Amino acid sequence: MDTPTDVLHRVFGYDSFRAGQQEIIEHVVAGGDALVLMPTGGGKSLCYQIPALVRRGVGVVISPLIALMQDQVDALRALGVRAGFLNSTQDFDERQLVESEFLAGELDLLYLAPERLRLDATLRLLAKGEISVFAIDEAHCVAQWGHDFRPDYLELSTLHERWPDVPRIALTATATPATHAEISSRLGLSEARHFVASFDRPNIHYRITPKSEPKRQLLEFLRTEHPGDSGIVYCLSRSSVEKIAEFLVDNGIAAVPYHAGLDARTRAAHQSRFLREDGLIVVATIAFGMGIDKPDVRFVAHLDLPKSVEGYYQETGRAGRDGLPATVWMAYGLQDVVQHRRMAMEGDEAHRRRQAVHLDSMLALCETVGCRRVMLLDYFGQKGAEPCGNCDTCQSPPESWDGTVPAQKMLSTVLRLARERRQKFGVGQVVDILLGKKTAKVLQHGHETLTVFGVGADLGNAEWHGVARQLLAQGLLAVESDYGALVLTDDSASVLRGQREVLLRRDTLRPTRAKVAASSKAQAAAELPAEAAPLFERLRSWRGATAKEQGVPAYVIFHDATLREIATTRPSSLSELSRINGVGENKLAKYGESLLEVLQNDT
Ligand code: ADP
Ligand code: ZN
Repeated sequence: MDTPTDVLHRVFGYDSFRAGQQEIIEHVVAGGDALVLMPTGGGKSLCYQIPALVRRGVGVVISPLIALMQDQVDALRALGVRAGFLNSTQDFDERQLVESEFLAGELDLLYLAPERLRLDATLRLLAKGEISVFAIDEAHCVAQWGHDFRPDYLELSTLHERWPDVPRIALTATATPATHAEISSRLGLSEARHFVASFDRPNIHYRITPKSEPKRQLLEFLRTEHPGDSGIVYCLSRSSVEKIAEFLVDNGIAAVPYHAGLDARTRAAHQSRFLREDGLIVVATIAFGMGIDKPDVRFVAHLDLPKSVEGYYQETGRAGRDGLPATVWMAYGLQDVVQHRRMAMEGDEAHRRRQAVHLDSMLALCETVGCRRVMLLDYFGQKGAEPCGNCDTCQSPPESWDGTVPAQKMLSTVLRLARERRQKFGVGQVVDILLGKKTAKVLQHGHETLTVFGVGADLGNAEWHGVARQLLAQGLLAVESDYGALVLTDDSASVLRGQREVLLRRDTLRPTRAKVAASSKAQAAAELPAEAAPLFERLRSWRGATAKEQGVPAYVIFHDATLREIATTRPSSLSELSRINGVGENKLAKYGESLLEVLQNDT
């Protein structure tokens, strides 16, 4: 029998395990159940793929990512692993073929959509074969507390009743203590061993910037820091996705939209282009990205506030899986807070409470004057990290200022409108009153006669919007549903009575930039000795042509890191080539000769 290390070398062509992998794999190979929390890009897949290859039988992988199963299976087949999938995208004949391979013991891994487990036919099929391990990928989908809940995942709790002797491994990159506990109880994994890896992604630079003109800000970010790079831009609504994609294209940047309102064919085509082409940007709602394992996503940008820190961390985690520097950038402003506070008032009581807690944590991350990474890690249960030096607040620490008096002025305006006039208004009107602006709307309502009229002339319009945003973020003001009218909260009174200080963050409207501002292309190339660069480019074009011929993404053939190592070490034989990280047995057999040819022609 092969050991896990043999399989790592032979099949995957990797030198060594990453942190945590070996322990997890040995535990599962020995028949133990496991719950694995590891950040995106940490290397979760090997944790079930290797046990499936070492143990007798077929590894069954439950994954909600139907649209990606084909790519996952292609990538495994490129390694010589016998993999197949069953989901609703296949026709009868395709399913039949996979089912007969399963029954004949001709598969190492079978990917299954969770809804298939509700079908008796699937359960009967599985009962007829031999199963080596059940892997439950994206396990946080079982958690109602989280943001990706899938009712079908609840069914997975019955797996160990039907197959008590088959080890189960559940994996997720989303792991607040609350989600962790919920996964464990819903999947019946409290007896399982829990493996919790560090959630830090040190190669990611975090930045959250005040939103003024989002389109212009995005364009500047892309042009100055990521020209020609692949990345994802997240927006909240379908219509803003369409608008931003069009805006980027109009400005000469290759971009495609992705949201649930597009038909399935267009969505699949855009996703596939993103995976296959170099330098394409996808502008998307959060419908895009789960399970996308493109290693060279160089940035993730948010033009709207995510609903929770878990969502934010998962979306941003899609950047820089290859370990090279990547930027995560968000523009965030008053309207985001108003809109999210409003959305958090929808649904039943329990839902509202959950939304409010999620939103408060997200807002605290945006408004913090401390290190963003420290706050993120703390949120995921990793206390006491040191300031990172690779986020905007570390690199240009924002000032905080005593905003008690401005806060009182604003709250008192809201109070007077309510008490004296029985009226509620949105932020715009309240700020106009504070600034003493005699606008038509002010005059129409006679607001120039309020005692607070003009008491805020010491601050500017933008500063007052910053004050409103932060009061909303801190829960000292609230918005009412529908039209965003401001109302006081239970905590407002203590500020008005002078019993509570309000600390505010001074917005820096000048953009701050990563100190390592060189484009990531330049950085990637910088790691390459100058004399190796031309060969690296030739290897890349060889890879591009090969990928096109086979209809797979380029990274399925070899990662950049592997090509870079080949370009620097110039192996001259198959056995030298086999020592390169990422060159396994199957890829050596398949591509070895033609790689040596590229190398020999390079003189
Ligand atoms: P996750 O599912 O945790 O986001 P993946 O399993 O997709 O991460 O792994 C991320 C990347 O790291 C993949 O490209 C994978 O091939 C690579 N990888 C995983 N384990 C190793 C290892 N031991 N050595 C080198 N590369 C690895
Ligand atoms: Zn930091």
